[in-house]
Amino acid sequence: MIVVMQSEIGEEQIENVVQRVKELGLTPQVIHGTHQTVVAAIGEERPGLVEALEPMPGVEKVLPIMDPYKRASRELRVEPTVVQTRGLTIGGKPIAMIAGPCSVESREQIISIAKTLKALGAHALRGGAFKPRTSPYSFQGHKLEGLKMLAEARDATGLAIVTEVMAPEHVPMVAEYADVLQIGARNMQNYQLLQAVGESGKPALLKRGMSATMDEFLLAAEYILDRGNPNVILCERGIRTFEDHTRFTLPLTTVPYLKQKTHLPVIVDPSHGTGKASLVPAMCKASVAAGADGLILEVHEDPRKAMSDGSQTITPAVFQQIIVDCGKIASVIDR
Ligand code: PEP
Ligand code: MN
Repeated sequence: MIVVMQSEIGEEQIENVVQRVKELGLTPQVIHGTHQTVVAAIGEERPGLVEALEPMPGVEKVLPIMDPYKRASRELRVEPTVVQTRGLTIGGKPIAMIAGPCSVESREQIISIAKTLKALGAHALRGGAFKPRTSPYSFQGHKLEGLKMLAEARDATGLAIVTEVMAPEHVPMVAEYADVLQIGARNMQNYQLLQAVGESGKPALLKRGMSATMDEFLLAAEYILDRGNPNVILCERGIRTFEDHTRFTLPLTTVPYLKQKTHLPVIVDPSHGTGKASLVPAMCKASVAAGADGLILEVHEDPRKAMSDGSQTITPAVFQQIIVDCGKIASVIDR
């Protein structure tokens, strides 16, 4: 429910509505807009709630939130959410560029690529220390040691660190080193992980599950928001279809769709979305044109030698060209 308050009202009337919302078993959230204050009443929408709230002093009207995701919905909040951490801003006018190798491979590798990417204009460094691999025999990541290497790369460059957390019990450890906690596609519906990240105090980068619908994706984001973490970044990274010319199918309609349905920032991962380095630049440009707030890209000094996902990994030189080309597209769409 959204309780829209009249424009000229005092704090007392807002407080009375907040109390009544609590009595009704819902969670209140006061949102002070430029013109009006609204009290969001989050919880299950059931008959009788409008009648209980609408007659209260200072209330203009009560509107149901139609979407199943309440906190993520644009019905609740029209202004875009801007996630900001250590030089990385996602959801504002500029297009955010997150880049780095699939996996943290060594201290030297991650510090060297971080310096290169920083010089080329990246805003954040990605790199997996905990790797969700299809085969248990594949490289699983350097784990805690990898996190420490990422922290060193941050110290060397100032770049914000984006890295994946795979298990709820690892959230405090990863949050100690990372600036943004990535939840991978395979874990999009790991509800305990979503809740733990919701309680971590760190921004979350939530990747779309490879067979998740938009409602499922946004309800997964809702789990994080519902634990008090407003800083959720949504990432389209491709889905499973019958197509086999690419690793996944990258549906860019999800970008404008999500922008309509939610105030949360939306980024695209053309590396996993295509699985092929040669297709990445075009999909970067298309993503920006479609309204993405940022890109997350796998970049390695020598992709042929990458310990994971080499075939979809671009070189710094290609990344540099992507920055130039996406900058041109961004200016056309006034960003
Ligand atoms: C990754 O970013 O390296 C990754 C494993 O991504 P996804 O969860 O989208 O497969
Ligand atoms: Mn990868």
